[in-house]
Amino acid sequence: MDNPVLEAKAFVKSYGQGKAAVAVLRGLDLTLQAGEFTVILGPSGSGKSTLLNLLGLMDCPDSGEILFSGISAGHMNEEEHARLRNEKLGFVFQFDSLLPEFTVIENITMPARIGLNPRLRPQALDQAEARARELLGGFALEHLRERFPHQISGGEKQRVALCRALINRPTVVLADEPTGNLDKRNGELVFKDLKALSETQNAAVLMVTHNESACSRANRVLHMLDGSITKNPEGVRP
Ligand code: ADP
Repeated sequence: MDNPVLEAKAFVKSYGQGKAAVAVLRGLDLTLQAGEFTVILGPSGSGKSTLLNLLGLMDCPDSGEILFSGISAGHMNEEEHARLRNEKLGFVFQFDSLLPEFTVIENITMPARIGLNPRLRPQALDQAEARARELLGGFALEHLRERFPHQISGGEKQRVALCRALINRPTVVLADEPTGNLDKRNGELVFKDLKALSETQNAAVLMVTHNESACSRANRVLHMLDGSITKNPEGVRP
């Protein structure tokens, strides 16, 4: 298996300036492969969210390079970054980020609506809704499609957020502590879903967490400490 879809090379990132500067990443390398579920474990403050923000093109490294399917994104402008984020990346966050005034199906199709050419709108919206129903069906949640976020449980919200992350068939899914707010059972379901989507959608799935029970599902477990990643041979699974 060698199909790198996202590569971080020699990432350096600090916050603040001068004497107040906090060096978070000091030359970090990471390659994500299609179809692989990678978990990064690390204590709070080790730099996990900083790394996800850089990989998700929501922030820029001070130095280093980022490649999507071998193409450097470092020199792209903000519009090109926005298109890459919308078309190639799916995000899942710790706190559910569903829009409260929209229904489940409207939330899931939101990333598809954003990229729509107005002339193609009706047909493309139909396609997006069909895809949303298919994704909901995959999670056995189709009955929730017309409900609003306050009418579903925390675990259901997080799985709806997963559907939304997948609507544009992303090649990379980035998940930041997606089970931080869930009980054990719902957390297990989300781990299972993330693993399944790496397999069925051939997506590169990266999850950062401090929850070690995620490791049993991962193809690869990495540890982050003080902004550096180390591989734990015990954690590597076929
Ligand atoms: P984690 O996700 O592992 O908890 P973070 O990436 O959020 O870690 O933070 C890494 C370090 O960077 C921490 O020491 C944190 O205080 C610091 N940090 C994060 N964001 C900022 C910021 N915007 N300004 C200054 N320091 C920050």
